[in-house]
Amino acid sequence: MRYAIVSDVHGNLEALETVLDNLQRTGYDLLLCLGDLVGYGPNPNECCQLIRETNGVVIAGNHDWAAVGKTGIEYFNTFARMAIRWTSEVLSEENKAYLKGLPLRWIEGDILMVHSAPSEPSLWNYVLSPEEACQEFRTFSERICLIGHSHQPVLFTQQEDGCHKMGFDGLKLNPDLRYIVNVGSVGQPRDGDFRAAACIYDTKKGFMELKRYAYDVGRTQEKMAEVKLPVYLADRLALGR
Ligand code: ZN
Repeated sequence: MRYAIVSDVHGNLEALETVLDNLQRTGYDLLLCLGDLVGYGPNPNECCQLIRETNGVVIAGNHDWAAVGKTGIEYFNTFARMAIRWTSEVLSEENKAYLKGLPLRWIEGDILMVHSAPSEPSLWNYVLSPEEACQEFRTFSERICLIGHSHQPVLFTQQEDGCHKMGFDGLKLNPDLRYIVNVGSVGQPRDGDFRAAACIYDTKKGFMELKRYAYDVGRTQEKMAEVKLPVYLADRLALGR
């Protein structure tokens, strides 16, 4: 099985189209989407539509549920709040119902999918340090947990001597170890690389590969200016911060 894994699309259609085109060319069996289809970017409806058309497995992110009033925005910064209010206004009723219906977690074989920390997905906590990863490993039994939320691709392993954090481009997973893999963000990367991120996990080869795809950031920024989304949010796309 070849899984294509995406997360944190955030209404960025140019990034999503580029990623899906490339993933299709690479070839995969099933798309897994770890949430945050909307929020920040100028094309929330189009991104919902495209993701729905993939017939993949999709779970909810905090921005998806915030846009439909299913989770609070008290922890959002000013710009995120402005963007989520705009997103709520423009989302179609059909897409609102779709986002409302997304589950918080999904188990696919020995893979657990959640948007944020797996211990309690509805709290939207981050998994950033090896110590936090160690805590989280205790709360689920699957071998691999796929997450998003921080917009920074990173991999945690649980080994006998503790938990380790590492960056990755491609890694053959050790069948005896457990992993938490953050697949990065399609629509708003924050690891200093502006290119859209996605992962391919080939179960036969046991190989997890991080892909990066350059897209037309300028076009996305123009659209954000047209609908008056915060300049700060447009600027950060080009920086990958
Ligand atoms: Zn996000």
